[in-house]
Amino acid sequence: MNQELLKKNFENHGFKTAFFATGKEAADYLMGRIQGHKVSVGGSMTVKEMGLFELLREKNEMVWHWDVPGRDTLMNARTADVYITSANGVSETGELVNIDGTGNRVSQTLYGPEKTYFIVGNNKIRADLAGAMDRAKNVAAPKNAKRLNSATPCAVKGDRCYNCSSPGRICRSTVIMERPSNGMEVEIVFVDEPLGY
Ligand code: SF4
Repeated sequence: MNQELLKKNFENHGFKTAFFATGKEAADYLMGRIQGHKVSVGGSMTVKEMGLFELLREKNEMVWHWDVPGRDTLMNARTADVYITSANGVSETGELVNIDGTGNRVSQTLYGPEKTYFIVGNNKIRADLAGAMDRAKNVAAPKNAKRLNSATPCAVKGDRCYNCSSPGRICRSTVIMERPSNGMEVEIVFVDEPLGY
């Protein structure tokens, strides 16, 4: 992970950054930073692998539709003051890419919480925006479709995106975050090991 380049380019774009060698160190940092808040979490294998939801529950009000599924949870999540998620692709040039089906994740990262944390493993990073987009479409989305048992060609073959028109298509919005939205603080917590997909 090119820490110097990532720090320079993301901070030039108005993001805060933090860097850790392991997910455990990143989790300890976040537990120290986030206390006494209402925290909601996007659908994120990174967060799940870190056990972060359970760790943060000790000192925060936590809302996650992977913990309590349903629309009520998704609506409750919209009023959290802290949001935690990951990204499907991240460029060394300073952009975050996320593809969403329900829209809860991308909408929450664009408007609402006072503070959003993106947790980014080194497997998410590509040299430029084109590479980050390619990763989001051809690596992350097919794996997510497979996880969700979607009736899509990418879930069956697992090799790439087919830009399908299946009813089960999970890719309905693609958001490139170039800068934090006005009034929002966005911090990217980089972890120099693979996390999520
Ligand atoms: S557009 Fe369709 S084929 Fe492509 S990744 Fe999304 S669900 Fe899979």
